[in-house]
Amino acid sequence: MPLVFTPLIKKRLTLRAQIMLERSLLYFPELHGKTITVGLTRKHLGSASISYRGGTISRLVIRLKVRQVTYQTIGHELTHLVQGLSRGDRRTQPAPDKAPIPSGEKQCDIWTLARHKLFCDDAPTYLRMPRVIRERWLDYAEAVRGLCVAAVEKRRNYRFYIRWLESEIRKLPSVEPAPTKPTEPMQLLLPLEE
Ligand SMILES: [Zn+2]
Repeated sequence: MPLVFTPLIKKRLTLRAQIMLERSLLYFPELHGKTITVGLTRKHLGSASISYRGGTISRLVIRLKVRQVTYQTIGHELTHLVQGLSRGDRRTQPAPDKAPIPSGEKQCDIWTLARHKLFCDDAPTYLRMPRVIRERWLDYAEAVRGLCVAAVEKRRNYRFYIRWLESEIRKLPSVEPAPTKPTEPMQLLLPLEE
């Protein structure tokens, strides 16, 4: 795997976090064959940056907290890299049939959740949603993900797809009482020891 760890994160890196990173990357074909530097952050959940030299990309960096890192956070930062790639380097433009991911934090949340259910293990940070959905995220994750997939589709010809998405998410608690089914949310936890 093309992951390079900074000395600071190396000291703290757990096997769990490393496996989560590698597993997440499987769902990011846009990043395959590229080297990604992984560093540590203390302030934020995570961050992502791209360095350029002479107009081409020289370094892709994500920074994470190792403790209690989620697939949601890893996916969010990797999505930022994909957002940056499609903006910065003409030679890595996605295929014409695949629209590039628009920039922005909410966009990053939407495209991360839509990408795969793996990244639905925790609520996204920027997407606006009722408190009950955040508090009982695993009961709503699948429904929210479905709406994100629909929003990505809708964006092709509807400018206000984020507004549409957030209003649909707001309706979820009333249309769906979301009875707590003990078996279903567990599937979203995707245990590592399988
Ligand atoms: Zn972000």
